[in-house]
Amino acid sequence: MSSPPLRIALISEHASPLAVQGGVDAGGQNTYVLQVARHLALRGHHVDVLTRRDDAALPAAVDVRPGMRVLHIPAGPARFVPKEQLLPHMPAFTRAARQLLAHSVPYDVVHANFFMSGLVGLRLKAAFGLPLVMTFHALGRVRREHQGASDGFPAERIAIEERIVRGADRVVAECPQDRLDLLRLYGAEDRRIACVPCGVDLQEFAPVDKARARRRLGLASDDFVVLQLGRLVPRKGVDNVVRAVALLRHIPRLKLLIVGGDAPEPDEGRTPEIARLREIAREGGVADQVIFTGQRRREQLPECYCAADVFVTTPWYEPFGITPLEAMACGVPVIGADVGGVKYSVADGVTGFLVPPRDPAALAARLQQLHDSPVLAQALGRAGMRRVRAMFTWERVADDLAAVYQAVRRPREPAVAPAPAAAAAGGLPQPGALA
Ligand code: UDP
Repeated sequence: MSSPPLRIALISEHASPLAVQGGVDAGGQNTYVLQVARHLALRGHHVDVLTRRDDAALPAAVDVRPGMRVLHIPAGPARFVPKEQLLPHMPAFTRAARQLLAHSVPYDVVHANFFMSGLVGLRLKAAFGLPLVMTFHALGRVRREHQGASDGFPAERIAIEERIVRGADRVVAECPQDRLDLLRLYGAEDRRIACVPCGVDLQEFAPVDKARARRRLGLASDDFVVLQLGRLVPRKGVDNVVRAVALLRHIPRLKLLIVGGDAPEPDEGRTPEIARLREIAREGGVADQVIFTGQRRREQLPECYCAADVFVTTPWYEPFGITPLEAMACGVPVIGADVGGVKYSVADGVTGFLVPPRDPAALAARLQQLHDSPVLAQALGRAGMRRVRAMFTWERVADDLAAVYQAVRRPREPAVAPAPAAAAAGGLPQPGALA
């Protein structure tokens, strides 16, 4: 590491890096926070992740690895609360975070994730003079454009986002579309936007034996396997994929594997979207070809990707979308919606294809093409591996973010001695004070 080590407070109010992913509120942001923190720590920086305590059994602090801790912040009930209902608990989160920071050697930078953490970040910036870096992960105005009335977030979200855009030292845009949205919908200043994409861990996601993966998932070697993997919420457009499969009924060996949900089994009670998708599959006459696995742990995912002939993701909109990178790292071609981060990560005609969202016929045509030409599918998959290695590794993301932090860090106050409790702990905040 050429520049001096940094001390970073990474705030992620609802998305803990320790959570199991695939549920309604646990997905890409959890992966991002985990990998950013891990890779910054591997580079010698110190990262504390501040996340809401959503289970009474969680300890105040978890040492994840040298240089990375997760601090569970008491704010609201110690159980799952949907993110749409978390804003009223942010004053308590802010108070607890302030208390923590008051007893520590200062951090160099606060990096907030999602608008509610950004609100906390603005308050910490005001209280401690810390620079604030912001990754929104999703923008309220973009969501409104696509989800309209079904957006359950409080109306204040937009005004809060505007304040953060004005007050943050840097706003991280995850892809060119995100940058345009910040400029177009929030009047952000271009010079305070830093473009840093998401990444994939190439140790975690790499090709594994396809035949073995298929056996373990109960798939036949001559099946044409289409994979959909991610949170099962309507905006992910999984219904579009099921409808496309229904248009391909003449390919009886086509199997659609749908991975994700709020439970390890496909539980319609806990994941209502599964019931809706099953109904669409029944109507389309392909119920037998659509297989729901439920949520899968990270270590099970390479097997899911590598069992597939093609990975599909056709959301209505997508701030970034990490799953296409995971598929590409496993050598699987991707058909993605021509939106947001997907149109940045997928090179059309090179690593897969881009199709319009909500257009089952367009998706079916591309699936048919890959079904008819396994050689083309394999070539696209290999090109995807090359693309993620060159452009989308967490190592690179961590380096780019560290450069953003270095650009906004302020010189440390030289002569301020830490409070005794903080000094005894090497200056690290003592989360025990929060219990
Ligand atoms: N994921 C998982 N298990 C599942 C389904 C999804 O671990 O059963 C992970 C997936 O591998 C990816 C993340 O959840 O890392 C989803 O991220 P993405 O950016 O694609 O979508 P988001 O959740 O941010 O909308």
